[in-house]
Amino acid sequence: MAAQLLKGAPIAERIREEIAAEVAALRGKGVTPLLVAIQVGENPASAVYVGQQQKAAEKLGVSYRLHNLPEDATQQAVADFIGKMNGDPEVTGIILQMPVPQGLNARELQALIDPAKDVEGVSPANMGWVVFGRPTLAPCTALGVVELINSTGVNLYGKEVVIVGHSDIVGKPLALLLLDKFATTTVCHIGTGERGVLPDHVKGAEILVVAVGKAGLIKGEWIKEGAIVVDVGINRVGDKIVGDVEFEPAAERAAYITPVPGGVGPLTVTMLMKNTVAAAKQQKGLG
Ligand code: NAP
Repeated sequence: MAAQLLKGAPIAERIREEIAAEVAALRGKGVTPLLVAIQVGENPASAVYVGQQQKAAEKLGVSYRLHNLPEDATQQAVADFIGKMNGDPEVTGIILQMPVPQGLNARELQALIDPAKDVEGVSPANMGWVVFGRPTLAPCTALGVVELINSTGVNLYGKEVVIVGHSDIVGKPLALLLLDKFATTTVCHIGTGERGVLPDHVKGAEILVVAVGKAGLIKGEWIKEGAIVVDVGINRVGDKIVGDVEFEPAAERAAYITPVPGGVGPLTVTMLMKNTVAAAKQQKGLG
C-alpha cells in the first residue's frame, strides 16, 4: 500500500482535548452544556450513534439526555416536544435522531429546532449560513471531512476537489465549505453516474470525497496518483463494514486514504460535541 492511512481517531482525540478544556472553563463559569437527543421509535443504526454520542458527551463533561418518543408519535407530538426543548433554558443543544419513522416529515421537524440549539447544523438557518460562507453550526460530517483533509496539510486553493454524493447533510454543505477555501469543487450524483461520466470526474480529483452508500462504487483504477481520498460511505458486506471506494487498489494510487471504519466516523461525533459547546457558549453570551 502506497497511501498513508488517514485515521480519524488521532485527529478526533486532539480536537476532543480542546473541547474538554472548553467545557471545563464553561463549567467554571457555572455553565454546563446540555445536549438533548430525541429518538422517535427504535432504530438499530441510530441506537449505535446515540451510544457514541452518550459516551463522547460523558467523557467531555457535557450533560446528555435521551428522550424516547413512541414509534407512533404524530408529527404534531414531535413538533410539540421540539418546541418544549427550544423553550427550556437549560437545554443548549437538540438532536432529532435520524431516521424518523415513516409518516413523519424529518425536514419539517428539523426546521423547527431553534437554530441556536441546532448542533447538527440541519436547520435551514444554519444551512443558510453555510451558503453565506459564515458557518456557525454546520453539519457535523461535512465539518469532520474538512478536518481530515486539513490534517494532510494540503493547500486547498485552486485544488480539484470532487465530491460524489449530493445529500443535504454531507455532499452539498461540504461542497460549500470547500468552495469557501477556493477549491475547484465538482459535485457528482446519480445523474453523473447514469450519464457514464463518473470515472472521468473521479480521475481528475486531487481530493476525492465519496458519500453515497454503495460498496465498490468507486474503482481503485479511477484514483489519481497522489490523491487524497476520503470515503464517507458505510456499507455492510457480509460481516464486514466497507466504504464506497475499492480500498486496496485505491490505496496503491492515493497519497492519503481513510480506512472504513475508522476514518470519518470518529470525527462526526467529535464535531457534534464541538458544535454543542459552541452553541452553549453562544447562548450564554460567552461565544
Ligand atoms: P444519502 O442521503 O442517501 O445520499 C447519497 C447520495 O449519493 C445522494 O446524493 C445520491 O444521489 C448519491 N448517489 C446514489 N447513487 C449514486 C451513484 N451511482 N453515483 C453517484 N452518486 C450516487 O446518504 P448520506 O446521508 O449522504 O450518506 C452517504 C453515506 O455516508 C452512507 O453510506 C452513510 O451511511 C454514510 N455516512 C457516514 C457518516 C459517518 O460519520 N461515517 C455520516 C453520514 C453518512 P441521488 O439523491 O440523486 O440519488
